[in-house]
Amino acid sequence: MIDLYQDTEIETMDREALEALQLLRYKRTVANALKTPFYKKRLNSVGIKSAKDLKSLPDIKKIPFTTKEDLREAYPFGLMASKKEDVVRMHASSGTTGTPTVIYQTQEDLDNWTNLTTRSLVSVGCHKGDIFQNMMTYGLFTGGIGLHYGAEKLGMLVIPASSGNTKRQLQLMKDFESTVVHATPSYMLYLYSKLEEYGYTLSDFKLKKALVGAEPHSEEIRQKIEKLFGIDAYNSYGLSEMNGPSVAFECEKKAGMHLWEDSYYMEIVDEDTLKELPDGKTGELVLSILIRNATPILRYRTRDLTSIIPGQCSCGRISRRISRIKGRTDDMLIINGVNVFPSQIEEVIMKMPEVGTNYRILVKKEGLLDRLIVQTEVGPSIFSDDARDMNALKKRIIDNLRASITISPTVELHEPGVLPVQEGKAIRVVDERGGSK
Ligand code: ADP
Ligand code: ZN
Repeated sequence: MIDLYQDTEIETMDREALEALQLLRYKRTVANALKTPFYKKRLNSVGIKSAKDLKSLPDIKKIPFTTKEDLREAYPFGLMASKKEDVVRMHASSGTTGTPTVIYQTQEDLDNWTNLTTRSLVSVGCHKGDIFQNMMTYGLFTGGIGLHYGAEKLGMLVIPASSGNTKRQLQLMKDFESTVVHATPSYMLYLYSKLEEYGYTLSDFKLKKALVGAEPHSEEIRQKIEKLFGIDAYNSYGLSEMNGPSVAFECEKKAGMHLWEDSYYMEIVDEDTLKELPDGKTGELVLSILIRNATPILRYRTRDLTSIIPGQCSCGRISRRISRIKGRTDDMLIINGVNVFPSQIEEVIMKMPEVGTNYRILVKKEGLLDRLIVQTEVGPSIFSDDARDMNALKKRIIDNLRASITISPTVELHEPGVLPVQEGKAIRVVDERGGSK
């Protein structure tokens, strides 16, 4: 029999019990944090001298936020709260936006993380007997190794393929009959675009599920992956500062991502005023990790934009859900004074069936004006030498984009497979305006 929950008691406990557990674990984390000079100074400055000074969950709001810059300043050992000889692993962020940040884990910390990744895999219906091809990069980046241990613990057969080498990925997928894959959504689409070239058809595979994450993607991208491969795709969210994958994960209901609240304390704040926002309102996600001794991080400003989905999920899990990540606070483009999120552009173009599996956004300066250029690949059957057809499609894309973002971009159509692809996180936006964003 396949279990619905990995840990029924924790996953379905009532809110009162969950909050009691959160407070207990928050106190333990504060006690650990006080062992580091960085947090000792911070916490003392707001009157927290020991974990006992945290009497109830609202007391958490007294703690100053931690930023990415704080973590960079603490590089390399400033936030290590355990004895060095008790630490068994380190990880670093991918450094998408600057100097990487480092975290450490003891064996107990790793076990806690593994437990969460197993829980996440169970929540999307994975089980013993599944063949799990992990196409996320293994290494300092947490994406690959993070799910690896959870999948093994669940009893899945793990193929630690790591990223890249598309030809080999397809061969592994066929020969070992992979049922579940883990990849970035952009790589899933790229993989599909290469099937024919390497001589495969979908009937060569036994694939049932894709776990996709590590980069922002719209609901339209998820649906495209599902439709092209004929599988279910689930959203997986995490960041190295909070261990990595399995901070939040969709369940089989596909109705937002459960943020595992027994392990992370979440707040959504207005990114300018830093005031807490009510459920349903989009703001910056702030997280405290409650299950790690070696690197406690309190009230971390993730810079990721999301909202808490009101109400409980029909799967019965108590952990509240967050909506799809809209992007990072610094992703917003200002084009001739108009605010545009790359995710808005993606939603529009990926809704159009003629649009292929890859796209890119360029921003340039032309004289005093900004020019927005949207480059998209079109499906193999759509690309045609007939300039009239292509111009009509271009016009439809421009019209749809104007209706959503209020400005008219230049649209360039490309043959499938010509726009650049990354092995790791997709680089969707190239802003050539220098500091004038
Ligand atoms: P870096 O900040 O250097 O990219 P990480 O490798 O730790 O470091 O990546 C974490 C970040 O990746 C998150 O803060 C978020 O911006 C992005 N991310 C991860 N998973 C998702 C997801 N499912 N949807 C959108 N963005 C995601
Ligand atoms: Zn659910």
